[in-house]
Amino acid sequence: MAEDTGFVAGIDLGATKILAVVFDGGMKARAQAKVKTPGSGSPDQVLAAILSALDTALGELGMERGDLRGLGVAVPSPVNRKKGIVLSTPNMGMKDFPLRDRLAGLLALPVALENDVQAGTLGELRGGALRGRKSAAAFFVGTGIGGGIVLNGELYRGSTGSAGELGHMILQDGGSLCGCGRRGCLEALASRTAMARDAVAAAAAGKAPVLLERAGTDFRKFRSSVFAKSVESGEKAIERIVERSAYWLGIGAANVTAVLNPEAVLLGGGMVARFPDLYKETAFKSLKDHLMPALAGTVELLITKLGDLAVPTGAAWAAREETGAREAAE
Ligand SMILES: [Zn+2]
Repeated sequence: MAEDTGFVAGIDLGATKILAVVFDGGMKARAQAKVKTPGSGSPDQVLAAILSALDTALGELGMERGDLRGLGVAVPSPVNRKKGIVLSTPNMGMKDFPLRDRLAGLLALPVALENDVQAGTLGELRGGALRGRKSAAAFFVGTGIGGGIVLNGELYRGSTGSAGELGHMILQDGGSLCGCGRRGCLEALASRTAMARDAVAAAAAGKAPVLLERAGTDFRKFRSSVFAKSVESGEKAIERIVERSAYWLGIGAANVTAVLNPEAVLLGGGMVARFPDLYKETAFKSLKDHLMPALAGTVELLITKLGDLAVPTGAAWAAREETGAREAAE
């Protein structure tokens, strides 16, 4: 058996890309590689793509799979962590799929499985903006809005593992349709998808020529980089749409603060990483304006420190903690 270097790897298995990051024993990111997620929807092809990203990252360090202590993989789906099962990722054809054991078999390594947002929260908690915090709530703004909760210095998972669906608190009864099938959820008001819907309308009204030229009116092409280009070139209508997202997140933060009385609320995800100052300023003002007076000044608003690396960092920590626990138990 190879010498134990303490190296672990984290995989962010996303709907469009797979990011593999290798961490040393001090949990410093040492190498990373990205591949496209296969579009055809076969789990075997996804498994092969994960291994290819991992091997490329390891290759940069002159390492092989056997040099790792373990691997963590984060997926955009609810998971059964105990059984290592991905419950449902429609894009990748995984339904009740035993991803953990399939990967562990292929790699001959211990594998930990996490939901991506839970992994992102864990990453920020162990090595990012939430480091050292005992209690916090995290919002991740992307295609949807994911959330995570930290209590007593650990991730709080809830009775069935689904805690932290902060994007689905209803803020506007009868409001915009949400991906979950209900109306007026925070996600339907403040996610990148919601912003793209409003940006298409602004572009159609002739208020965002730069955005229109770069992305047309296909809202699926409205990546955070497209929003950034538009705002940087002075398109105020688009800037106001991003501010609106931050405003709604401030209300979400005020609500979760009333429920949990946390030390901190974290904002993360691609859009926040692109507009850190705008989100910090606007969401903080909105949080202050909507917080119940008795809680004034009790909560800090923080912006992601790890950005795109939050999810693979958390997945790697999950692998490390799982293998550590295994060692202690042996
Ligand atoms: Zn919803």
